[in-house]
Amino acid sequence: MRVGFIGLGNMGAPMAANLAKAGHDVFGLDAAGATAEGVKQVETIIDAVVDMDCVITMLPNGRIVKEVCEKALEHMVSSTVLIDCSTIDIESARAVHAACASKEILSVDAPVSGGVGGAQAGSLTFMAGGSQDAFDKAKALLEIMGGKIVHCGEGGAGQAAKICNNMILGISMIGVCEAFALGEKLSLDPQKLFDVVSTSSGSCWSVNTYCPAPGVGPQSPADNDYKPGFAAELMLKDLLLSQSAAELVDADTPMGERAAGFYQKFVDNDGTGKDFSAALEFFKSAARGDSNG
Ligand code: NAD
Repeated sequence: MRVGFIGLGNMGAPMAANLAKAGHDVFGLDAAGATAEGVKQVETIIDAVVDMDCVITMLPNGRIVKEVCEKALEHMVSSTVLIDCSTIDIESARAVHAACASKEILSVDAPVSGGVGGAQAGSLTFMAGGSQDAFDKAKALLEIMGGKIVHCGEGGAGQAAKICNNMILGISMIGVCEAFALGEKLSLDPQKLFDVVSTSSGSCWSVNTYCPAPGVGPQSPADNDYKPGFAAELMLKDLLLSQSAAELVDADTPMGERAAGFYQKFVDNDGTGKDFSAALEFFKSAARGDSNG
């Protein structure tokens, strides 16, 4: 296939490189001039979208995705499918689907989980939203970049699944960090706490796979001075998306709201550039009530 790939950043570059490695003709466009292995660099949106079987976007936010798609759609024909893999707000995702539908262009929102490591390994989880026809057309490419592809429903359903998953993750990581900091203040050995929790009812991905306590559990960013991994500011972005989605549909998400407030404070103070699990350091040095203020 001929694939136009727009946004060759930390995630987009390895994803585009995997498509090229699998034998597809990939044409990459990035505003900062970023490139990717095996990908032909192009300079304009026209060169990235004309004569393509598929156009993939992997961009920072909904505003940019809408702008890029608006320009792309001026030059796209109905045989091309658009796949947006960025994590963006539900309203922007729906707007992109509607703009595509008005030109009879099939579109899929397909945000990912798995981070840069998953993008490099081609093992991302894709959460896809769009019609069955659009999904069927996108699937072969998603399978090259990902290990697990779930068709979640109509347009926007992929973003909805991503937002809900990451709201759980943000809340659970805060819970785990609180507990490990409390344990330390109660003179509990973090290894013993891990041994108990990881095989008890408190077990979850944030403990068992990504334990925020250094030297405990499988290798995680905590063992590398909290170098991301998944940066605190990206967790904040996703939690804020969950809150704008919750406002849109009048959903009560009290813990999601608290988690967004916590990560906002963490990022504003010392957390920028650190992995989101470094919240443990915050709680270790905090006094009771500090995270409220
Ligand atoms: P990034 O900032 O590294 O890459 C974004 C790229 O888009 C940059 O290279 C930038 O130059 C380019 N860009 C910006 N505006 C553009 C435009 N108008 N035209 C062409 N290129 C443009 O970000 P990333 O880490 O690759 O993340 C991309 C998306 O994936 C985000 O929506 C993010 O939330 C999501 N995501 C990231 C991770 C992660 O671990 N990094 C994990 C899951 C999802």
